[in-house]
Amino acid sequence: MNPKEIAELKTELQSLGVRLEADSPRREGGAGPAEGITLIIEGIPATVPTIPRLAKKSPYSLKEKKGRFELFQNEIFLGEVRLGGSARFYDELDSQGRPLRLFALLHGEDCLATTVNQVCAYYAQGKGCLFCGIGISLDRGKTVAFKDPETLARAARKARELDGVKHVTLTTGTQSTPDRGIVDLARAARTIKEATELPIHVQALPPDDLTWLKHLSDNGVDTIGIHVETFSPKVLKKISPSKSEIGYSRFIEAWKRAVDVFGRNQVSSYLIVGLGEEDAEVIKGAGLLAELGVYPFIVPFRPIPGTPMENHSPPAPKRMKKIYREAKTILRRNNLSAREVKAGCVRCGACSALPIYETIPD
Ligand code: SF4
Repeated sequence: MNPKEIAELKTELQSLGVRLEADSPRREGGAGPAEGITLIIEGIPATVPTIPRLAKKSPYSLKEKKGRFELFQNEIFLGEVRLGGSARFYDELDSQGRPLRLFALLHGEDCLATTVNQVCAYYAQGKGCLFCGIGISLDRGKTVAFKDPETLARAARKARELDGVKHVTLTTGTQSTPDRGIVDLARAARTIKEATELPIHVQALPPDDLTWLKHLSDNGVDTIGIHVETFSPKVLKKISPSKSEIGYSRFIEAWKRAVDVFGRNQVSSYLIVGLGEEDAEVIKGAGLLAELGVYPFIVPFRPIPGTPMENHSPPAPKRMKKIYREAKTILRRNNLSAREVKAGCVRCGACSALPIYETIPD
């Protein structure tokens, strides 16, 4: 397949889901857009929803034949794919004999990802983001509430040795302290960096004092995601009341300072499509971010079972394709590219088709 065919296939799979006709591992929680499986299509990772409500209507299905996975569209064979989501480091143990899979997961092809602090102050106050599944994997005993830096460093070392991990994503539930959880992210980053030298990405909300961003960089962090999720004020207020209270002007200040600290193209923001916003709001927001030097990481909404939005559906593929094409032009105009990003979701690219749209020739 050429880049355009892969980009369009990935877009359709992420909007429509895939039916599993094989036993396979599924994610059922986690921060951000979790749930589903990871398919590797000709080297391109794609997180794809598998919840039956969507998948039973999808033209796409996945069949296992003697340990190999074949992708079909309306029963027509499209090609062989690899299944992500398993890693050799998972069965290694921490100092207390617990498996390292409780501390970090392999995302995409080569990204080690973890939620350092699985407890979110907003969630606890009933003001959590309606799409987020941060509490679900904790409730199901699939992770631990707080990951200490030493165990994370051990997981990163093992993941690099056994699974070829090349970069690390550290996210956190937002803390009620003025640093919003940045102190713990910085400690984890420093310990992982000293143990592995891997590039590190963190995700946090704007702290009360923006000098905390420099503290992250001083402790080995290479890139940062400060995620506003949507540029529709009405949708933000409904879906993410705590981010709405922070306000767009504070996000803009934080993005500008982050670009000063980490450089253009090394700062990103998730923009989730399918929350009720207009296309024009997505494009305008992507343009605003790109002009600041911030990569707009546009992703389709993905429902996570157990969250208030579990019955909401992803956006139509036709809509996503149009948005991606326009976003690609914005990236070009502002000289931004996923290929230049040192670590994190934009480098991983599994949750968005935008990085592959970037590679389609005009
Ligand atoms: S894009 Fe981010 S959230 Fe999605 S799989 Fe990759 S590292 Fe994980």
